[in-house]
Amino acid sequence: MQAVDLSHITIDQALHPVLAEKNINLCVLRTDKIHPVISGNKWFKLRYYIEDALKNRKTTLVTKGGAWSNHIVATAAACKHYNLRSIGIIRGEKPENLSATLLEAMSYGMELVYISRKDFSENKIAQWLNHPEHYFVDYGGYGNPGADGASTMLEHCNKAEYSHILCTVGSGTMLAGLINAASPQIIVTGISSMKNNHSLEYEVRQLLKNEKIAFNLVHDYHFGGFAKHNTELTTFMNSFYRLTNIPTDIVYTGKLLFAIIDLAQKDYFPPGSNLLAIHSGGLQGNASLSKGTLIF
Ligand SMILES: *Cc1c(COP(=O)(O)O)cnc(C)c1O
Repeated sequence: MQAVDLSHITIDQALHPVLAEKNINLCVLRTDKIHPVISGNKWFKLRYYIEDALKNRKTTLVTKGGAWSNHIVATAAACKHYNLRSIGIIRGEKPENLSATLLEAMSYGMELVYISRKDFSENKIAQWLNHPEHYFVDYGGYGNPGADGASTMLEHCNKAEYSHILCTVGSGTMLAGLINAASPQIIVTGISSMKNNHSLEYEVRQLLKNEKIAFNLVHDYHFGGFAKHNTELTTFMNSFYRLTNIPTDIVYTGKLLFAIIDLAQKDYFPPGSNLLAIHSGGLQGNASLSKGTLIF
């Protein structure tokens, strides 16, 4: 299996007519390029959990997720790479046809355990999973080690150059890590990929080293909800690719870049701003689209 290669990370300048008109510079930190499966923020969020599991001589990483969770696949692939066993606790009954995500996780040797939505949300798990050799990683890699790992994404750019850092948000772990690592004068903004996720601000704050620090959450670019999309979004993703050569995905990064261009159009950023967008990976999320929808 291919190793994660951080030297593949690039910082790509994205030229776009709206940005030119508003005198705004946009660079994209391409962490999607480190690995085809464990791409982007998932590897960064997992790195310290895996280090800790190995140090404590655990044999197995146990984590939770939905049937389409990038975190589940990334965990399975990372564990295979580090010779750890992996168990995925999957929300809901076992479906008749397994999702591409679950099949891929199994191909990396992950053992899947299905639990009811109720038990999943109440964090109830079978007794046998509570084993001294098992190391637990929360849903989406949420937790302080996950945020600390995400902080190290900014070691791959010269962060002092930027006035704003923007990322897409699921659990908020990556956003918290970026806020912790950014200097106080940098404005950090998260674009939520979910509809009406009102507990997000609280969950991000739980992971901050400095509780009082300010950050922005924008809830207006979910396109109907998590993993929902429409032709306005896919048309934008195609035109953004044509202009910049940067591929994005329908769940996370497409919505992030759409939001950045739209916010720029609405004068959200002062002229002269120097933006850094985090490309957090997730391109496999486009696999569910019918062929020909995207040009990349
Ligand atoms: C999982 C994922 C996220 C969400 O990260 P959180 O730390 O859970 O907020 C963002 N972008 C991509 C591409 C992802 O796969």
